[in-house]
Amino acid sequence: MPKFSAKSQEQLSSCHADLQTVCHLLIEQYDFTVLEGYRGKEAQERAFMQGKSRVHFPCSAHNCYPARAVDIVPYPIDWKNEDRFAQMIIRFDTLANVLRKEGKIKSHFVYGGYWAKLKDWPHIEIKEK
Ligand SMILES: [Zn+2]
Repeated sequence: MPKFSAKSQEQLSSCHADLQTVCHLLIEQYDFTVLEGYRGKEAQERAFMQGKSRVHFPCSAHNCYPARAVDIVPYPIDWKNEDRFAQMIIRFDTLANVLRKEGKIKSHFVYGGYWAKLKDWPHIEIKEK
């Protein structure tokens, strides 16, 4: 059974409880890495400069604490394999549906991989009401 690295665990612990709950269940059936949860000002501006984020601090869902967004990548990492990202998102979403029905989480999620423009495959954020 896959499990989180210390780095993944640390990043995940900076995220909203609902994101943590789904990720902890997902890792039992699918191996992935948690790249980033919370981003402070410096980290957000760095992400912007690197083209990993489209917004400045504090406008990303990564900028509140706990973070309302998480970036996850199938492991081993292969950025070119979009099918694996799509597969990971489907699994995440399926588990999220189950957990919502069981009353274990309340959030709905938005997937950066489904954005029409500038797809952001690793990005999963909590939908604002
Ligand atoms: Zn993100």
